Amino acid sequence: MKVYTEAFTFKTRGPIDLIDITDNVQKIVTKSQIKNGIAHIFAPHATGIVILTENEPNLLDDIRNLLEKLVPEKGDYGHPSNAHAHLRSVLLPPDKTIPIIDGRLALGTWQSIMFVETDIYPRTRTIIVTVMGE
Ligand code: ZN
Repeated sequence: MKVYTEAFTFKTRGPIDLIDITDNVQKIVTKSQIKNGIAHIFAPHATGIVILTENEPNLLDDIRNLLEKLVPEKGDYGHPSNAHAHLRSVLLPPDKTIPIIDGRLALGTWQSIMFVETDIYPRTRTIIVTVMGE
């Protein structure tokens, strides 16, 4: 079995910005030359989430609204300044594992890999992709 790891970075625009990272991940899978196995996609951040969803603007607004409803910006929080950002981030995991078949991420037709910024400022974010297989 072969293991290939590569990271990439990108900028976000602030609270609940959603960034489609599918192409970045597929490029790394292609570069790994691994044809069959799995890709693990991980965001090493305390205020960031990785989701699989349809990249459709109205749906992305629905996701923003859902996170705002589940964890409002103002609340009786203990952590200074950005507690809601951390709490939104603990609701959903910072990683995904996706099968690779014939060198391609085996995503469904409407599945895109998206990073969700939950922090209160624009940030530079990192995604670590680990490709395992043969
Ligand atoms: Zn904090």
